[in-house]
Amino acid sequence: MAPGWGADVTFSIHGLAVARGIAIGRAVLVASSRVDVAHYFIRPEQVEGEIDRVRRGRDAVVEEIQRLQQTILQLGPKDTPNELRALLDVHLMLLQDEEMVGGVKHWIVDRHYNAEWALTTQLEVVARQFDEMEDAYLRERKADMEQITEKVLRAMQGQATSPVLPAAAARRVGADGLQQEGTETPLVLIAHEISPSDMLQFKQGLFAGFVTDVGGKTSHTAIVARSMDIPAVVGARTASQLVRQDDWVIIDGDAGVVIVDPSPIILAEYQYKQRELELERSRLERLLGTPAVTLDGEKVELLANIEMPEDAPAAMKAGAVGVGLFRSEFLFMGRQGHLPDEEEQYQAYRRAVEGMAGSPVTIRTVDIGADKPMDSSVVEGKHLNPALGLRAIRWSLADPSMFLTQLRAILRAAAHGPVKMLIPMLAHLGEIRQTRALLEQARAELQREGQTFGPVALGAMIEIPAAALMLKTFLRHFDYLSLGTNDLIQYTLAIDRADESVAHLYDPLHPAVLRLVADTIAECRAQGKEVSICGEMAGDVAMTRLLLGLGLRSFSMHPAQILAVKQEVLRADTSKLAPWAQGVLAADEPAPLLAS
Ligand code: PEP
Ligand code: MG
Repeated sequence: MAPGWGADVTFSIHGLAVARGIAIGRAVLVASSRVDVAHYFIRPEQVEGEIDRVRRGRDAVVEEIQRLQQTILQLGPKDTPNELRALLDVHLMLLQDEEMVGGVKHWIVDRHYNAEWALTTQLEVVARQFDEMEDAYLRERKADMEQITEKVLRAMQGQATSPVLPAAAARRVGADGLQQEGTETPLVLIAHEISPSDMLQFKQGLFAGFVTDVGGKTSHTAIVARSMDIPAVVGARTASQLVRQDDWVIIDGDAGVVIVDPSPIILAEYQYKQRELELERSRLERLLGTPAVTLDGEKVELLANIEMPEDAPAAMKAGAVGVGLFRSEFLFMGRQGHLPDEEEQYQAYRRAVEGMAGSPVTIRTVDIGADKPMDSSVVEGKHLNPALGLRAIRWSLADPSMFLTQLRAILRAAAHGPVKMLIPMLAHLGEIRQTRALLEQARAELQREGQTFGPVALGAMIEIPAAALMLKTFLRHFDYLSLGTNDLIQYTLAIDRADESVAHLYDPLHPAVLRLVADTIAECRAQGKEVSICGEMAGDVAMTRLLLGLGLRSFSMHPAQILAVKQEVLRADTSKLAPWAQGVLAADEPAPLLAS
């Protein structure tokens, strides 16, 4: 094993367990910045260009300061305060700071970080040194350093290289920063927060695990981490301040613990656990070809949740019999406001449909907003309660022509295989009527234009208690329902799903939540309509028996969970589970019943 294990003091950080497994690797810190910064690895041949971009950004800021100094000179000392002149001198000095300049170069040359990432990483390193200074005046220079770094970042905006994500190149960069052809040092990502669009960039397999300071169990960052099937801990509060670049780190995604600079004994224990998990995984793989049928012969549908069309083949390989939730909003994120047009969307949906080779694909219309901002660089209005604001269907209906574009693209993709359309966050009859009218308009337009399109079943997500309380109305307008329990829990219990400080109150087993879930399943079954769950609850093996007992026969989850849930299904007898589930439903405190 690498030298230096346990050289520093081992310590652990506790957060929320969100994605299973154990990762062991070197820490890559992504510093948060007030300027939205892309993080990606560059190719070796891009190194010079990236250094040049930083140089040009810095030169632009130097020139700006020098121009200001000229103006001040012309105005004369009477009209300009001494402090301003001194400050500009300090800023110029900081811009030339050896440590800053050398450090940025190091991250670009040795680690292949893109220029912006290198700059913010080095800022973090230097800022920590400022924090440790005894002299109060010098300590305060940290704010100046942050200010000029932001200026340089802004000066660099508009000249960014495109993210290339050469996973292989990233892997070739060793723990000591040297090119290490052939050796694979796993990297783990530590950040204050990772936007869902950044997560997608990281989805290329660069990292063996994630840790973030903020976030709840069903925050979208956690969801994407789970979909990547790599260990992750969120809500680790100060992790990004405590862990340093390059520290060796163990992420225990089952326990929600991060161990920094582990001693050899701790390391050996976790390596053993890692091997055990691998074994369990390969044991489960034997269930791949087994149909999901309970002991008493009830067929259960196990579907996949996906974020990008490219996830479809992996979903098939994991044993999914269809896609129960394609979160189409990921196509809209991180595009600096340039939304995908109809053709681009159509091609994306078509790829997903073709990737599923005849199995149904449920495409959810855009669910942007709350903790899934479309573009974190676009300053969106600051609202006090974004989860209660203009998100999902509200956002779509606020821009009917944009919505129409998506509806048309989905209808066209439906010509290539079975497609179901799913509408998020509905609460009002008016929203249902508008949605249906726009869908009709989309069909009529395509017909008139002679475009080929296919049939789609129309479904609604039940994610707001209001919707769960007016099921009869919903069922009059929709072919099927899908329970979005992540949001249903959030809105029923008034707990922000992304806020780690109230994560302990986010309870899928709260009797009120179970009541809404049970009623939705029962009403759909009574009316002969399909119902599924596509929230995280569906992939939680601890919930499988209860949901089967409540009558659920369709579960949509991250592909990585499918076999574990199938194992539960194969062991279940719904004739026994049904009366037991009614008991759980009636209890004031269902959790202990579930454990027994
Ligand atoms: C849900 O709310 O349960 C859901 C599946 O939608 P999302 O997690 O994307 O909000
Ligand atoms: Mg939702």
